[in-house]
Amino acid sequence: MAIKVGVPSTLFYYNYFPMVQTFFQELGVEVVTSKKTSKNIINAGIQKAHADTCVSIKVFYGHVQDLKDKVDFLFIPKVFCLNGKTVYCPKFLALSDMMKHSLDGLPEIIDTHIDVRENRFAIWQAFYEIGQRFTSNKIKIFSAYYRARRSLKKYRQLMLQGLTPEQAMLQIKTEKKQAVSTPKAKSLRFAVLGYSYVVHDDFVSVNMLDKLSKLGVQTITLEQIPAHWIKNQSKKLPKNMFWTFSDQLIKAAFHFFKHQDVDGLIYVSTFACGPDSMVIDQLKLEAQKRPEVPFMCITLDEHSGDAGMHTRLEAFTDMVRRKKESGGLKCAK
Ligand code: SF4
Repeated sequence: MAIKVGVPSTLFYYNYFPMVQTFFQELGVEVVTSKKTSKNIINAGIQKAHADTCVSIKVFYGHVQDLKDKVDFLFIPKVFCLNGKTVYCPKFLALSDMMKHSLDGLPEIIDTHIDVRENRFAIWQAFYEIGQRFTSNKIKIFSAYYRARRSLKKYRQLMLQGLTPEQAMLQIKTEKKQAVSTPKAKSLRFAVLGYSYVVHDDFVSVNMLDKLSKLGVQTITLEQIPAHWIKNQSKKLPKNMFWTFSDQLIKAAFHFFKHQDVDGLIYVSTFACGPDSMVIDQLKLEAQKRPEVPFMCITLDEHSGDAGMHTRLEAFTDMVRRKKESGGLKCAK
């Protein structure tokens, strides 16, 4: 029977799962993911996490509990820095330790440390170290790593074509083309910016993307933005944010404020998110200077409900549509 590695389907999952899955599968290891986020998963997380932790970490606790009795290993690496400039949120760095100290009966955790600031080959070395748990064949590990990188590249390309993470993963899995919804002639286009594990988790985001689609709004998220848009903003800002995702989100937002290539910008945050306390203030200041791009910030928590979310999105969409139709807004290019 194949060894099973559990991958929680939240946090890094939305950015790196195809890479992780390919790597393990190439080594003959079965990959098991946790169920989609649900009320039960969140409730399980709330019972074990500190009360003042952000929702995303509470959700993570729930996913780990969903997996822990089904697998031989849990994959929770300590990822510090992957670009040589910015680091991941401190809560990401402590994930494996938080789980070990709060949950009983866990299988062995693969918590390999990855920091490219220490060594530019750190990613390969981390995967080599992980692969050695399952095979002593270095060539096999290298081949698995090479294919894993190719999967990640393909995954990112599919999202740049407009697919959501879920659609892109499905396309990679089935090799069947997924339909990308094309905007109707008069529809609006909003940038919906926030952490991938919030925006693309239907339960946590209260189906925000789907609700906007039903309101006639085409959306663009961080994962669907070309890297050079973000890089170009780097040259214009005095410094980077410390945290990788926050840095990318600020730069993406600044791109939309400057180029006005969307009809509106929604920033999605979660209650008790430390990095967002700085990101949101910066965005509000920029939004005041750029009133041409309507801006709304939505903060989610474990109690966010369907009706409240629908009302806020509908009110914002109506306001933007009326302003646009009356000529008060520049149309998206
Ligand atoms: S970035 Fe914010 S939401 Fe994400 S894990 Fe860190 S504190 Fe939580």
